[in-house]
Amino acid sequence: MVGSLLACALGDSYLKVAVLERTPAIPPPEEEYDLRVSAITLASRAIFEAIGAWRGMEARRISTVQAMHVWEAVGSGSIRFDSAEIGEPCLAYIIENSVILAALQERLQQFINVHYLCPLEVEEINIFEDNAAVTLKDGRDLRARLLVGADGADSYVRQAVGIDASGFSFDQKGIVATVITEKPHGHVARQRFLSTGPLAFLPLDEAHTSSIVWSADTARAEELLALDDAAFTAQLQEAFDALGKIRSVSPRAAFPLALTHAKAYTATRTALIGDAAHTVHPLAGQGVNLGFLDAATLAEVLLEAGAKKKDIGSLSVLRRYERRRKGDNLAMLAATSGFKLLFGSSLPGVGFLRNLGMDLTDAATPIKNLIMRRASGLAGDLPKLARRVQAD
Ligand SMILES: Cc1cc2nc3c(=O)[nH]c(=O)nc-3n(C[C@H](O)[C@H](O)[C@H](O)COP(=O)(O)OP(=O)(O)OC[C@H]3O[C@@H](n4cnc5c(N)ncnc54)[C@H](O)[C@@H]3O)c2cc1C
Repeated sequence: MVGSLLACALGDSYLKVAVLERTPAIPPPEEEYDLRVSAITLASRAIFEAIGAWRGMEARRISTVQAMHVWEAVGSGSIRFDSAEIGEPCLAYIIENSVILAALQERLQQFINVHYLCPLEVEEINIFEDNAAVTLKDGRDLRARLLVGADGADSYVRQAVGIDASGFSFDQKGIVATVITEKPHGHVARQRFLSTGPLAFLPLDEAHTSSIVWSADTARAEELLALDDAAFTAQLQEAFDALGKIRSVSPRAAFPLALTHAKAYTATRTALIGDAAHTVHPLAGQGVNLGFLDAATLAEVLLEAGAKKKDIGSLSVLRRYERRRKGDNLAMLAATSGFKLLFGSSLPGVGFLRNLGMDLTDAATPIKNLIMRRASGLAGDLPKLARRVQAD
């Protein structure tokens, strides 16, 4: 998603862009919901609009989040965020990853300076002083002034150019599934913090259909994954009853959760964006949104440098990108991890403070608004592409 977005942001420019993708072209989204969905911030929507991909998503399938309700399984602490409080029609969107990819790739095809090459296998990467060379298994050899690693958490590019990443496993898995509930979700995203990890119900476009992300400690996740459908539904019902009876649950998938942060986002002739540079816990729905901001910022820096006839692959240009993104990404990494640790702690007294903290924050309008604006991507050093947020 992040690499395709960067290519779109560089569409119609003087640059010649090749996107190298290992997997075959994705089939069009089906009637069945994709198990992978993303909470998309207002800033990401602005970027999608600016690059001309938003209409393609709307035409397929999107859902809005008008409010968000977060509460704890133990205690009475809860907090509710409402889009009306910040004067926006919604707080975020829930969009299937296949819809995002389909719309981005449809847009890519419209640029004559962008080439999408798939499926392929990268054999080798060599970095020279004035270019980066990528050799494919089929023998093709591609050279560019800049190589961008947008190849996800296990980034081969990051490893090939010798950038270290630090981090830790949350020792949790995120179980995802699509569920149908008795009560309509009312376009409210709900997250309940259980002692074994947070469970989120994200509203899809059909009134009774939600996408769940159940982050559970690995042992608990394995237990849940081993259950048959009826037993899993019973466990889900026990953990979450805010939408009445759970009528059906789709097949499940699970992803290990880890925090990683690359020690540098740039090296000679190379830049890292998206999960290749950082991964966060999904509890705040920020991961891919940070990646989209990386891509929009990198595009801005490259186009500005190009306009001044600078070498887009030079470290002085690339460091401008790194300077603008590293601080924001680190702040979000720290915030979501702090949240995870706070809510994962069973130390005496911490539960009381958590509940108190949620209630106090809920009552303090300016703090709540600040959190909402930050989480919606309306605050911070935004790239130009993310700045124009339009009302519906
Ligand atoms: C359970 C769960 C829920 C989440 N929910 C949210 C959410 O609500 N909101 C949010 O913002 N984020 C969310 N995230 C995070 C989000 O999914 C990631 O941040 C996002 O997928 C990262 O996108 P990316 O394009 O950087 O990397 P990826 O999605 O990993 O894409 C990398 C691409 O590179 C390709 N590739 C990899 N290696 C090679 C190679 N050697 N050669 C060629 N191609 C290669 C892959 O095929 C893939 O297409 C969630 C994550 C999880 C696990």
